[in-house]
Amino acid sequence: MEKLTHFLKASPSPWHAVDQMEKMLSSRGFFPLTEKSSWSLQPGGRYFVQRQPGCLIAFIMPQHPQNHGYENLPRVRLVCAHTDSPGLKLKPNPCKIKSGYPVLDVEVYGSPLLSTWFDRDLGLAGQVTLIHADAGLRSRLLDFNEPVALLPSLAIHLNREANEGIKIRRHEDLSPVLLHNFIGKDQEPLALFLDWIVKRLQFQYPGEDFYGWDPVSWDLMLYDCAPAKIMGGDDGWVTGGRLDNLLSCFAAVTALTLATPSRETQEPLLPVLACFNHEESGSLSQVGAQGNFLPAVLKRLFHEPQQFERVMSCSTMVSVDSAHGIHPNFTDKYDSNNAPELNAGVVFKHNANQRYAHSVVAEGMLKGLCRSLAIPWQDFAMRADMPCGSTIGPTLSASLGLHAMDLGVASWAMHSIRETAGLTDVRHLQALLTGFFSSSR
Ligand SMILES: [Zn+2]
Repeated sequence: MEKLTHFLKASPSPWHAVDQMEKMLSSRGFFPLTEKSSWSLQPGGRYFVQRQPGCLIAFIMPQHPQNHGYENLPRVRLVCAHTDSPGLKLKPNPCKIKSGYPVLDVEVYGSPLLSTWFDRDLGLAGQVTLIHADAGLRSRLLDFNEPVALLPSLAIHLNREANEGIKIRRHEDLSPVLLHNFIGKDQEPLALFLDWIVKRLQFQYPGEDFYGWDPVSWDLMLYDCAPAKIMGGDDGWVTGGRLDNLLSCFAAVTALTLATPSRETQEPLLPVLACFNHEESGSLSQVGAQGNFLPAVLKRLFHEPQQFERVMSCSTMVSVDSAHGIHPNFTDKYDSNNAPELNAGVVFKHNANQRYAHSVVAEGMLKGLCRSLAIPWQDFAMRADMPCGSTIGPTLSASLGLHAMDLGVASWAMHSIRETAGLTDVRHLQALLTGFFSSSR
């Protein structure tokens, strides 16, 4: 499970997560494609294509060439997850001076548990685009890979009611203070911020010259520099940032690299993994699940125009995202009859109003797979008097027209800066997804 903690540390932003997934896929024989090139896909070939920021699709072509007969239509085994996590994102003018201190100006991205962002060693990562008068544009990944800012709490002596609950004012209270050695007290903050970015890029890419390049656009998120940790060995817990939903991305990519679709079945299977950005803000973007990336890629895998709909009609999708594990101190927030525990099995997520994707066909198929692979499972549903969150499952199931089921790993503190999940659950999820990619049952 060191690979998981390495993946989490190396993925402080969706940009970086895609970069890491590409490395995992390349090392296991997957070949990179680009959207603008024409594709000549080989039977049994393994491929991936990215659309940045933070979106990647990988697939394994059926071993046997497709023909027009119904019996040989491939069945897509689609697994979907998201690469983004809620947090604090830099504004276009990201620096200002408050009481003599340089602070960062941020917007809240998604729905983080804001109280958990205070008193953490905060790093900064994402993508920057630079412009040069003669040489044009250049975009680079950026990660300071060390603490650069801090969001200090107000001392209890200045707010005696702090332990009775704090209201966090998003505009006033969430300005992380920058370390002084990055930006001096008496200097113009934006100019120094830009200089700071260029210096870091020069350090990060020593073989390139950033002289004369001006940062003009950025997609930069703050993150907790404390690395993910394994607690209690291989059967214990993993704690860390962005488990929702990088834990699912890691399990799904690993499962795809281990899948053996041609070995276990005579029916042509087409395993596909799709990881999207912007789930935490509603998925409506060119790299979100409501975008055209997945249907555009899938349509390029089939010979004839109508084959896409025909294949979808006999295909299945698993949407993988974090699930709520029962919290022993807040049991009244759960339906005790449908409350999963950590390290007690993969969670099937249910909601009567389709906030999670659900079809009895997909659920039956996946629980049958669990049974044949000796994988424990649990079911989750909210209390009847509380609404639940949502996933990309319903959106994709509706737009593609396939049977789908939402699954996940039970976790604590979802959307905290540091979440916790069970490691045996991660292994069980990985085994189930490997079986799903490989088996026509
Ligand atoms: Zn999620």
